[in-house]
Amino acid sequence: MPDNHRHAVVLGASIAGLTAARALRDTFGRVTVFDRDTLPDGSAHRRGVPQAEHAHGLLAHGRAVLEELFPGLVADLAARGAVPVDIQRDVVWVFGNRPAPRAASGLAGLCVSRALLESYLRERVAALPGVTVLDGHEATGLRYDGTRVTGATVRPVAGGADREVHADLVVDATGRGNRGASWLEALGFERPAEERIDAGTVYVSRDYRRVPGREDFAAILNAPGGPARPYGGIALGTDGDRWMVTLLGVGAGQAPPTDHDGYQAFAAKLPDPRLHRLLCAAEPLGDPVRLRLPGSVRRRYERLIRRPERLVSVGDALCSFNPAYGQGMTVAVAQARELGAAARDGLDGLPARFYARAARIIDVPWDMSAGGDLAYPQVQGPRSRRTDLLNAYVARVQAATGRDAAVARRFLEVTNLVRPPQSLMAPPMLARVLWHGRRAATPAPAPAPRPAVPV
Ligand SMILES: Cc1cc2nc3c(=O)[nH]c(=O)nc-3n(C[C@H](O)[C@H](O)[C@H](O)COP(=O)(O)OP(=O)(O)OC[C@H]3O[C@@H](n4cnc5c(N)ncnc54)[C@H](O)[C@@H]3O)c2cc1C
Repeated sequence: MPDNHRHAVVLGASIAGLTAARALRDTFGRVTVFDRDTLPDGSAHRRGVPQAEHAHGLLAHGRAVLEELFPGLVADLAARGAVPVDIQRDVVWVFGNRPAPRAASGLAGLCVSRALLESYLRERVAALPGVTVLDGHEATGLRYDGTRVTGATVRPVAGGADREVHADLVVDATGRGNRGASWLEALGFERPAEERIDAGTVYVSRDYRRVPGREDFAAILNAPGGPARPYGGIALGTDGDRWMVTLLGVGAGQAPPTDHDGYQAFAAKLPDPRLHRLLCAAEPLGDPVRLRLPGSVRRRYERLIRRPERLVSVGDALCSFNPAYGQGMTVAVAQARELGAAARDGLDGLPARFYARAARIIDVPWDMSAGGDLAYPQVQGPRSRRTDLLNAYVARVQAATGRDAAVARRFLEVTNLVRPPQSLMAPPMLARVLWHGRRAATPAPAPAPRPAVPV
């Protein structure tokens, strides 16, 4: 039962902030969410989340956690045009040179635009009793009584004086550009240690009109192929009868062009021809949009010896990943669920309990994202013999996904965060990987036509 005397303040009304607000509402009588942006009424782009113009995949684990926090979410979003998928059957995955065999896997994903997902979460959260979402308010600092954080300071973007808001818990969900570490420093605490990796990735995205049922796949993902092929391309069939297409290049000189012909030509370089064919046949719905990705940052709040009570950072403010692995939203919502669980155990010592649990959620996706980036020799970061061995093994796994449906399924289970990476090294799987991964360089045969599926 929520305690009506308790008030939680959440800074940032995006994926992490909204899901944290939902999870905290189980124990806090009042939750107030502030965002500095003007939040649109429906599904529309806004300044504070420029990444929303680029294709966002929702992993199976993220979909399951969101459905748990917001029962009925998948059906509601499907009614608004999002496309529920079986992640192996309905999606073309190209990790090596060949597409993975498609087969029913039970891995349930959702192709939804970032803007629709966020607007839906906002609607659901704002409708919760006791929850208020206030836009046009920028968080500028914290209130502190010498032991614990007692609230936050917010400034109306339209002008006017700073406002002090009392809170029993403050959640910083202000994303990659957060000022959490500086705020800690201003209170006399150490900044958390940071791990940073920058693969130098550039995304260029464009929407195209989608005719439902015309293609036999709901999405196609050509993952970047390491130093030998440092580029990739994605098309997700989403709401608004659109293909959200993102082409990406890793490292200097690899950025996809932003002009029409150059964009199409870049797609033609991908190992599987279907994305290029799609772009040639579909009508573009606007110009390509370019984004140079900032690097990935993991802030080690769990290692701080001294930290104030009643303050936590979540989502990208705690750890932001290379989006090529599609993990950010899933990790954010999994943290929100854990924050709710930590709050149910009481407010004393909550940050320590939450950060310990959050670190366990982050470990695997961070190793995948940072380790994968380190496969590129130009990327700076802490390398060890283990990193090189793991990357060599992952390259074999990726090659094997093109030949063995069971390896593909296991790899997808791991990358969708529903199985641990060790499961790729268990004896029967290890043998399949070593056998099927040995012929990585053999080119793929042309994809056979398949009956259309209603996606
Ligand atoms: C190009 C790109 C592609 C991506 N693709 C994927 C993908 O396929 N799958 C996936 O899961 N993830 C993907 N991600 C990652 C995903 O976008 C993030 O992990 C996710 O948005 C994290 O949510 P968040 O709420 O922590 O932060 P954000 O979504 O960045 O939101 C931060 C919020 O805080 C607000 N804010 C900022 N400062 C203040 C302040 N001072 N006061 C008040 N409000 C403030 C902003 O307006 C915003 O609403 C991608 C990221 C990028 C950059």
